[in-house]
Amino acid sequence: MRLHWHRRDLRVTDNPALPGDDRILPVFVHDPEILAYGAPPVVSFLLDALDSLREQYRERGSELLLARGDPRAVLPDLAAACDADAVTWNRDYSGLASARDRAVVAALADAGVSVDVERFGGTLLHEPEHITTNDVSHYSDFSDFWLEWRDREKAAPVAAPVRGDVVDPRDSLDEEWLGEASETAGPLPSLAELGFDDPEADVQPAGTDAAHDLLADFREDTIYRYEDDREYPARESTSRLSPHLKFGTVGVRTVWEATEDAAAAASDGDSRESVEAFRRRLAWREFYAHVLDARPDVVTENYREYPDEIQWRDDPEGLRAWKDGETGYPLVDAGMRQLRHEAWVHNRVRMVAASFLTKDLLIDWHEGYDWYRRKLVDHDTAHAAGGWQWAASTGPNAQPYFRFFNPVAQSETYDPDGEYIREHVPELRDAPTDAIHEWPTLDDEKRAAIAPDYTAPIVDYGEHHERAIEAFEAARGDD
Ligand code: FAD
Repeated sequence: MRLHWHRRDLRVTDNPALPGDDRILPVFVHDPEILAYGAPPVVSFLLDALDSLREQYRERGSELLLARGDPRAVLPDLAAACDADAVTWNRDYSGLASARDRAVVAALADAGVSVDVERFGGTLLHEPEHITTNDVSHYSDFSDFWLEWRDREKAAPVAAPVRGDVVDPRDSLDEEWLGEASETAGPLPSLAELGFDDPEADVQPAGTDAAHDLLADFREDTIYRYEDDREYPARESTSRLSPHLKFGTVGVRTVWEATEDAAAAASDGDSRESVEAFRRRLAWREFYAHVLDARPDVVTENYREYPDEIQWRDDPEGLRAWKDGETGYPLVDAGMRQLRHEAWVHNRVRMVAASFLTKDLLIDWHEGYDWYRRKLVDHDTAHAAGGWQWAASTGPNAQPYFRFFNPVAQSETYDPDGEYIREHVPELRDAPTDAIHEWPTLDDEKRAAIAPDYTAPIVDYGEHHERAIEAFEAARGDD
């Protein structure tokens, strides 16, 4: 019998670790060390995804074993208790997860449990060691990575295990194990039991059915306008699959297969290009995962070393205004309020808000990373570090240190009718569109007449660009 440890692969279909000749006993372990990095939106999504996974096993006449504790203790005990001859899991690429995996292998050996350990690649289309530069290291340039990633053959999704391949833990484990160490068949722990408050946001539905519904809708229609519409937050033209890809409630091979179907059904070259544009986003996802695998410190340290430290500003009031969506820059504020209400933000607006924090306010990107970690439903170490270090000009493939996103020009270009801003900043609902975009440059009298309840800009636009450039040039050692 084989013990399969589910982590970020909360599905039975398209899970390369599950098929095989052995019978499978599936387990998920609530690990306090990992949960310490959790936050209400992600943990709430996780619990719903586990509920869905458990249903998928029940449909196969089985049960998902739910345990709580340190996997280094839980897995050897469990493997011994059910007399497993193998333990499997899908790879995870963060430093914390990789160190935990190594520790679990050592703990199994120390406990004298004789099992084969097999790791699968169910999270990415291509493993880090398969896409490398000539000197066998990870790519730090996305364009080169993309060409190689795009041209490599992709494996197809695998079928789910059938009824009978999956073992019911209640038939294999004694009462002591089932009663004390696990919560099998009982209710899932609540957020409060795991130490979390309810999320402030209305978190999107989790689970495999929700993921497949989103993917089906996207593949039928939205994917064909992705290239034209994806940068416009009001057009709702992206897949919203990010939390599902994070927790593996849909497999990435299934998503890839949907792009193949969409490409085959595309009626013209523009539609095929649009599908390709979406595939490029999947490649960004893998690019950042490979970077994290090679440089686990990218979560805490600048990827790109500057000779001297960047002198970030200590600005508690600026940081508070940014978090609360009260900067007086309508597009930034709309994004920060969407984050609070939906636990998700459109990518273009994430970039604008991140650039505003790190360049206009010159506040350390770690502050932004931490706030997003606490508020996003799709928080993912690799993409968060990638996105934040990109905005802060410290990451691989980052924007140059002297480049700024002008929130006024960005809102004129990407929210031309002010629709997205009006939805999330109700104080501006009745304001003329021009005034919405130009808000930071209007004088106080005009602002008071147009939207008396909306805040004035906390910084004059452009005034602090010189300050940011000087800070970066000092860190670079430029004269
Ligand atoms: P789609 O446009 O439908 O893209 C499909 C999938 O591709 C996404 O679900 C995601 O898995 C992947 N993807 C798309 N864009 C990126 C990207 N730039 N980097 C990496 N993967 C990408 N994404 C996260 O999943 N988790 C995060 O914690 C996260 N933090 C970010 C922080 C900042 C500052 C920035 C600028 C970006 C961040 N992103 C993060 C990337 C991106 O914003 C989201 O993946 C995207 O908005 C999710 O929406 P979607 O599923 O509709 O995307």
